[in-house]
Amino acid sequence: MSHDFSERLDRARQGLTRLGWSGLLIAPGADLRYLTGYPAVALERLTCLVLPRDGEPTLVVPRLERPAAQDSGVEAAGVRLLDYPDGTDPYPSVLRGIGADAAILSVGDQMWASHLLALQAVLPQTRWQTARRVLGPLRARKSPAEVAALAEAGAAIDAVHQRMGEWLRPGRTEREVAGDIARAIRETGHATVDFVIVAAGPDAASPHHDTSDRTIGAGEPVVVDIGGTMPSGYCSDCTRTYVVGDAPPDFLEYYAVLQAAQRMAVTAVAPGVPAQDVDTAARTPIADAGYGPAFLHRTGHGIGLETHEDPYIVAGNGEPLGEGMTFSIEPGIYLEGRHGARIEDIVACTGTGVQRLNTTSTDLVHL
Ligand code: ZN
Ligand code: ZN
Ligand code: ZN
Repeated sequence: MSHDFSERLDRARQGLTRLGWSGLLIAPGADLRYLTGYPAVALERLTCLVLPRDGEPTLVVPRLERPAAQDSGVEAAGVRLLDYPDGTDPYPSVLRGIGADAAILSVGDQMWASHLLALQAVLPQTRWQTARRVLGPLRARKSPAEVAALAEAGAAIDAVHQRMGEWLRPGRTEREVAGDIARAIRETGHATVDFVIVAAGPDAASPHHDTSDRTIGAGEPVVVDIGGTMPSGYCSDCTRTYVVGDAPPDFLEYYAVLQAAQRMAVTAVAPGVPAQDVDTAARTPIADAGYGPAFLHRTGHGIGLETHEDPYIVAGNGEPLGEGMTFSIEPGIYLEGRHGARIEDIVACTGTGVQRLNTTSTDLVHL
């Protein structure tokens, strides 16, 4: 899989031109990886891509990071490397990279405040904006190679869910099960395990429950929400709900409502549909069945080089969906003190409709 980084840099420059901004300053993180392929780690030493609207991009790096930057191939994308030795002030190098015009600079969300404050001190006249306005729309529309990378991540996490019967049993703790799941996430090809939520019984009523030492009881619904990052840099994120033994009858009733709602939201995805309409498609059947207040979060989030990125599938987001957008559809029903359920698939908006990137059944899994 290859990405055209020089084309991405060109499109970012076009965004700057459209907005009348002078340049972009990007620290290590998903934006830097998106624009250059360099998976740098954020440090107290400054690493910063400087992309002027009307000039060549420069990557300011600590001298000891220069070989790693070179190995990642940034120069092939047309990025010049400018290194500095320890003990020197790197912030004036950013000034040299930006050139004469620094009237309005945009900065990526992931630049540490310590670096941004130092840059603001050497550029006291500059007005600052968020780079998300330039990069958000670019990153939100995945290329076919990116959708393929997310499909590969989806298949890898699906394979972990399909092994749940090996680990999920009454008498084991959430943490024991989570340890087995984390090992399997690596075994299926992920480079990192990003999160493992195992939430049993009343714990399942908290959407972001922190996996605990609670012992899983017979008949308890268990929400398992797991994800990691593949060597490609692209992320997985998938939730299924399991029940070990016989589920409570009221749980079975609302699980059916949730499953239908999730399916309706997936079906609602098509190019031109406002993102918030997909949220409505999930929310309406849940509310109609009397569980409206129990669905206490948005329907979904974009996913790519980050687990949470644009577009957000939430009331108030009238942005139309477009081909190549990839995001989660993950409605949930949470009954405090009792139990809960969530079903989450990653989907891609195609030229005509929708493609699921998690392809396993959404039926309640009885173990
Ligand atoms: Zn979440
Ligand atoms: Zn999730
Ligand atoms: Zn998610």
